[in-house]
Amino acid sequence: MTAKIIDGKAYAEGLRARIAKAVKELQAKHGLKPGLAVVLVGEDPASKVYVANKAKQTVEVGMNSWEHRLDASTSEKDLLALVDKLNSDPTVHGILVQLPLPKQIDSTKVLSAIDPAKDVDGFHVVNVGKLATGQDALVACTPVGSVMLAKDALGKLDGLEAVVIGRSNIVGKPMALLLIGESATVTVAHSRTRELRDVVRRADIVVAAVGRPEMVKGDWIKPGATVIDVGINRVPTEDGRSRLVGDVDFAGASECAGAITPVPGGVGPMTIAMLLRNTVVAAHRRAGLSDPEEV
Ligand code: NAD
Repeated sequence: MTAKIIDGKAYAEGLRARIAKAVKELQAKHGLKPGLAVVLVGEDPASKVYVANKAKQTVEVGMNSWEHRLDASTSEKDLLALVDKLNSDPTVHGILVQLPLPKQIDSTKVLSAIDPAKDVDGFHVVNVGKLATGQDALVACTPVGSVMLAKDALGKLDGLEAVVIGRSNIVGKPMALLLIGESATVTVAHSRTRELRDVVRRADIVVAAVGRPEMVKGDWIKPGATVIDVGINRVPTEDGRSRLVGDVDFAGASECAGAITPVPGGVGPMTIAMLLRNTVVAAHRRAGLSDPEEV
């Protein structure tokens, strides 16, 4: 079998177009323009690229975008003061503090200081708790984008056997909660899981969020299964350059999976699209409106 490629880039493009429409409508009907404030502390090169992409795409869908770039030596107190200011600014509907933060700053403290209604990364304990208890939450972007792709490939997920590899707060755990919400039968595997190959082999949906290049091999995949590869790993190539690979051996897995996300071009593009979606949803909720249906 040759797997169908799940095109996250195309899906994210369509989603951004629908978000742009929802933004336009919000402005036309209610005079409200959603706004996202991104805070970057320090000079981490990867973070700088992420933040620039987020700002570009925020503006492209018609929302306000603010970038707050702070020096690497910024104190926790000063960062908390900025978060406080953004919390009380009515034009700001979403706040994102780019991780990782410099050593002198306690990131848990900073994430907890963000108003949960503006926590478009979905990392605040209030949002995590709401997700866990099945209430309306702002949910972490990468897992919700991954579930959207799985549903696009499979339709309903109920009753399906799902194995999530990875138990991080950012991906693995929220992913498992979302899949439970979709009525899948969920197993969470991690670094201490025994006989991982056999665990993965029984899955109808495999979600790999490990951070180990091509760890999941083709013969671990049940024939016809859907594979969602969250991993983004940069590996050196023979010509001295580098390329991105996922946590799944794409060539091997494509031979037996029913559908698979590529890296790049699978889950990756969904993350920023979901951030924009969370911001437009947060703006609707703040105005007492129901969530926009088209996104
Ligand atoms: P993490 O390091 O916080 O967690 C990795 C998890 O993998 C841990 O729970 C650990 O128990 C598990 N693990 C480690 N070794 C294992 C092994 N040998 N067998 C089974 N499980 C093992 O990483 P994370 O933040 O969850 O990210 C995971 C991957 O997803 C990374 O490659 C990261 O770059 C990528 N990621 C992508 C996006 C995106 O936008 N597509 C967003 C976030 C993370």
